[in-house]
Amino acid sequence: MTVIVKNKEQIKIIREGGKILARVLDKVAKKAKPGISTFELDKYAHDLIIKEGGIPAFLNYRPEGAPKAFPATICISVNNEIVHGIPTKTKILKEGDIVSLDLGLEYKGLFTDHAVTVAVGKISKKDQQLLDYTKKALEVGIWAAQGGATVGDIGHAIESFVNRKYGIVRELSGHGVGVKIHEDPYIPNYGKKGKGVKLIPGMIIAIEPMLNIGKASIVSASDDWTIKTADGSRSAHFEHTILITEGEAEILTKI
Ligand code: MG
Repeated sequence: MTVIVKNKEQIKIIREGGKILARVLDKVAKKAKPGISTFELDKYAHDLIIKEGGIPAFLNYRPEGAPKAFPATICISVNNEIVHGIPTKTKILKEGDIVSLDLGLEYKGLFTDHAVTVAVGKISKKDQQLLDYTKKALEVGIWAAQGGATVGDIGHAIESFVNRKYGIVRELSGHGVGVKIHEDPYIPNYGKKGKGVKLIPGMIIAIEPMLNIGKASIVSASDDWTIKTADGSRSAHFEHTILITEGEAEILTKI
């Protein structure tokens, strides 16, 4: 395992990239209205990134062991899809959907990663609670990610906060980010206090809890990419790229 601590120059660029990514994702999120296809959202995200001088980090990204590269700019996962949904022309958002928008950006050779789950039109109270809870779980994780704490402290904080109210996806996790889109260490959304890699100022990580209304189990779709809940329940996902400091972490994917 190789943990990369970033230098001042890298942090400066990643901070710039994070702001661009936050702006782009915010614009895309505002377009997630009933009647739009996920393909249109993808095209919009792609064009915005290019205009800002960036490169879509997920487009053609092929992790080790993956059967095929990801074919789009943004992972769009609707309702019971957890993450890695592929945008298509035939997938049209409708009133009452919840949609996870996960976007990676390469800017001046360095990477940031950010995701939000948004409501399409009016959603049920139950779904709104899921969104609020998952967003809060991310905040709790970020709060735990202070210099001198460990990766286990982050997972423990998220797991304790969720307190079995929702299923926490265990097979997917946060990760180091910056020089590559996915770096060591893995940041699971569960864990034991004081265990795992120690967080050092200058580390940059992405924390990304994924919570299911039902059970935690997942299944892979036949497109080789989309991950769904095994029981068909709805799922939400929020993610920020953060800089570890001596104290409270700095959120980099923020406008
Ligand atoms: Mg990520």
